[in-house]
Amino acid sequence: MSDLTWVEISKANFQHNLTSFRGLLGPGVDLLTVVKSNAYGHGLVEMGKLATEYGSDWLGVVNLDEALKLRLAGIKAPLLVLSFYPLEEVSVKAAIEQGISLVVYDFEQLEFLDKLAGELGEKARVHLKFDVGTTRLGVLADDEVVVDEFLTLAAKTENVEVEGVFSHLAASEEDEEFTRAQAKKFRWVVARAREVFGGEKKLITHLACSAAGMLSEDFQFDMARLGIAAYGLWPAEELREKMGPAVDLKPALAWKTKIIQIKTVSAGTNVGYGCSYKTKSEARIAVVPVGYWDGVDRHLSNCGEFLVKGRRCPIRGRVCMNLTMIDVTGIENLEVGETVTLIGKDGAEEVTADEWAGWIGTINYEVATRINPEIKRIYV
Ligand SMILES: *Cc1c(COP(=O)(O)O)cnc(C)c1O
Repeated sequence: MSDLTWVEISKANFQHNLTSFRGLLGPGVDLLTVVKSNAYGHGLVEMGKLATEYGSDWLGVVNLDEALKLRLAGIKAPLLVLSFYPLEEVSVKAAIEQGISLVVYDFEQLEFLDKLAGELGEKARVHLKFDVGTTRLGVLADDEVVVDEFLTLAAKTENVEVEGVFSHLAASEEDEEFTRAQAKKFRWVVARAREVFGGEKKLITHLACSAAGMLSEDFQFDMARLGIAAYGLWPAEELREKMGPAVDLKPALAWKTKIIQIKTVSAGTNVGYGCSYKTKSEARIAVVPVGYWDGVDRHLSNCGEFLVKGRRCPIRGRVCMNLTMIDVTGIENLEVGETVTLIGKDGAEEVTADEWAGWIGTINYEVATRINPEIKRIYV
């Protein structure tokens, strides 16, 4: 990948966000930082290391591949695989041997892990996942008989060590009433688990993502799972308004490139594929080496803006696979090689992932995670 494009991560901002969130947690509540999906585009291994350095108790990943990469990089912190992994012997055995904790949301997984761990003479560490109304992964908590059967089987499965019980919320950033109902159901599951496992057994219970963790200690249980807010982005605008100045998140990521060609064209000149833009007057057009392959969504065609020398420069024409054209008319002393900010601050101006999300009709999560992982990340 060309060095002309890079993603800059501010360690200080990441640390600030972790510390701020930690400040909202009740006494004794652990922090799990979610570094799934290349740490929301910020770089899996480096963010995993930094999160641990900045006091995160646990790291959460989406699959075995990410978990093993973190271990390979020497990260010894407790790791939880939050989502699907195939019941495939080689990789699951590696996970067990590396002391990686695995989600378990059905009976088949329990049996598979029991057999494999038994063969290794080890214990598979697991967190039992229940579905309290999100209708995603998890044993349906509505069915009390199945919940009891699942807990009972897990408790007596010899080569499986149950470390935790968890669930995931559906609408904590926007619907507090539904969230309270989900938390209530989860509390019931936790009570059943405590009964089945006995009072002596330590169980880490966890439910909250960024939004719920901020909203109330009621949702924090023993651990909160911090994702998007660790990276300085809000789960939703409503939540930002609701929390007010009490929580000050700082985006950790900036995305930059450099101008590779500049040209002056007369009025009426077409720009880019499909001739979707025609200059209205004489214009200076700069070509930058980023396109939809890099994660510049094609819906930004004739719509988004990048920053050059502290000025907003509209995207002209269609975003190409590897190139984009921007209007730099009126910017003085501009030369090839000048830095272009796709996301981040330049002078008094700032383009945010939220602004991108508004332009293309999505959420900041998608903007950040879709920045091509091959683009160089620099940690400053
Ligand atoms: C992604 C994820 C989170 C983090 O959610 P944020 O909204 O980014 O804080 C927490 N828990 C689970 C199970 C997840 O998949």
